Amino acid sequence: MSLIVQKFGGTSVADVEKIKAAARKAIRAQHQGHRVVMVVSAMGKNTDVLLELAGDIGDDMPAREMDMLLSTGEQVSVALVAMAIHSLGAKAISLTGGQIGMKTDNSFSKARIQSISTERIERLLDEGNIVVAAGFQGIDDDLNITTLGRGGSDTTAVALAAVLGADACEIYTDVDGVYTTDPRKLPEARRVEVVSYDEMLELASLGAGVMHSRSIEFAKKFGVPIHVRSSFSDTEGTMIVAESESITQPVSGAAMTADEARVTVLGVPDVPGKSQQIFSAIAKRKVAIDMVVQNIGQSGRADISFTVPKGELKATIAAIDSVIDKVGATGHTHDDQVSKVSVVGSNMALQTGVASRMFRALSDAGVNIQMITTSEIKISALVAKEQSAAALRAVHEAFQLHKRPSDAKSWHQIKAERGKADVDTLVNRLQADALEALTLTGISLTQDQARVTLHGVPDKPGIAADMFEMIGCAGIFVDMIVQGYDGEDGLTSVSFTVKEKDLDASLKVANEIQSRHGMRDVIGADGIAKITVSGIGLRSHTHVATLLFDRLAQDSINVEMINTSELQVNAVIDAKKADLALKGLEKTFADSLL
Ligand code: ADP
Ligand code: ASP
Ligand code: MG
Repeated sequence: MSLIVQKFGGTSVADVEKIKAAARKAIRAQHQGHRVVMVVSAMGKNTDVLLELAGDIGDDMPAREMDMLLSTGEQVSVALVAMAIHSLGAKAISLTGGQIGMKTDNSFSKARIQSISTERIERLLDEGNIVVAAGFQGIDDDLNITTLGRGGSDTTAVALAAVLGADACEIYTDVDGVYTTDPRKLPEARRVEVVSYDEMLELASLGAGVMHSRSIEFAKKFGVPIHVRSSFSDTEGTMIVAESESITQPVSGAAMTADEARVTVLGVPDVPGKSQQIFSAIAKRKVAIDMVVQNIGQSGRADISFTVPKGELKATIAAIDSVIDKVGATGHTHDDQVSKVSVVGSNMALQTGVASRMFRALSDAGVNIQMITTSEIKISALVAKEQSAAALRAVHEAFQLHKRPSDAKSWHQIKAERGKADVDTLVNRLQADALEALTLTGISLTQDQARVTLHGVPDKPGIAADMFEMIGCAGIFVDMIVQGYDGEDGLTSVSFTVKEKDLDASLKVANEIQSRHGMRDVIGADGIAKITVSGIGLRSHTHVATLLFDRLAQDSINVEMINTSELQVNAVIDAKKADLALKGLEKTFADSLL
């Protein structure tokens, strides 16, 4: 008998009528012959209301008590949903996180799932119940109640689907699927019928709030197909599976995090290990940093900039303050009026001109790019918050995301194909003892790389667009791009990597750009290599970058450039040290490598 997990978000259980509608959906599925597990969120905006209550008592409430408080929202809804099912004549039983044996670590407000015991759920299903499980919550080893982080009921649902070996995981929400960008921010956004795990993981981590990004880690690791659909209509929705909608379109979605903060640590001594001390202090507080850019100044000191979610700014600054003297940095600055706009696409790495298209669109919209980072399947630009809506619209338009690609796969095709093929799972669910543990799929080297750096670039729209359009016209394939503050007022620096054989041609373009726009200097370096750590959920597992920096610092290897995504962490290093780096990292990450 097949088993399905149905998750209902806050809006889908916002009042008694909606709770009854959700109950009817589950009963219908049971009548169709499925065993049904429901995962339910707090009613409506109840979690926000609870947060406000705590805020009325004061700031910085004890984390344990916050989780105790927030978990009550879900406890209310599971009981009501179970009652609704009873009132409609079917059998149901509600269970808290603790009662489903959802064991987590003890990091309150962002706890990670360690294990789930399935016996009780399976027994209750065998007895003919619809099991109604509370989303978002778990218990730690000391039986403290923990929560998984905002939006975490998705993760409860997919995790349950994974351990129960469910045939499907349906996410019922207030939109009828995954769109090319948030349809509330951009009405022209298009619903996609299919999106890949990799794309959704990255989109969710970059601001597409429709799915909790950690739920996609589970889905990918355990091969759980996710079906996102509306609670209020019968539209077919979106399948999140291994394959993408199209194999030709370079970009499949855009996302924005409106509330970001840029932090710059100034005057960090340019010695291996210094940046590691800063990142490790931040990672200890479980803050995921993004868009890391280091600029080596002439004085042998570097300025290190990165972004964090604005809500984590305070914790980040506290972390920096705790190590700044030890590191010997001269100070730090921040800007909390910035937003991150990103485009994501699995086919991006195979095509040239994707970055320049994004930069040109932003420049044409009059949007200045403050920072840039790229990775194999995403490009992010940091912009002023007041320009963020215009920026999102411009990139969505530039990649014609409102139009269905001609080779787009349909929902039906995916469903039909899935029926036949065995689902690939990266991790055998029975072998997994720490469900959300870091999963690495490989560590690799790319040799024969070169780097071009432009210092003292005027901070005005259009330069990045010019630069990468000309590089594209010269037929040069650019891999990593980073742009960030140069330490001098209003100036930025841009670095990018190309194949070693393309260095001279790239420098020619860079020199031309220098004479056109005026900038301090252009530097080229060959003999560099890129080391790549690949896996799942690498940015949200905040210790990955720390371990990487730590290992490289111990071997006195300087990191010239770095980029991170949920799927890869890449570091650009001296090619002569590449083998040493590879061996060191293989040792460091041995336990997490599949
Ligand atoms: P739930 O309470 O059901 O979990 P959420 O509010 O967490 O619902 O997620 C649904 C919301 O996600 C939508 O209302 C929409 O505004 C937002 N959203 C953000 N990005 C996207 C996207 N790419 N596609 C669809 N919805 C998105
Ligand atoms: N109720 C929690 C929240 O609002 C969890 C969830 O809805 O996924 O964040
Ligand atoms: Mg949600």
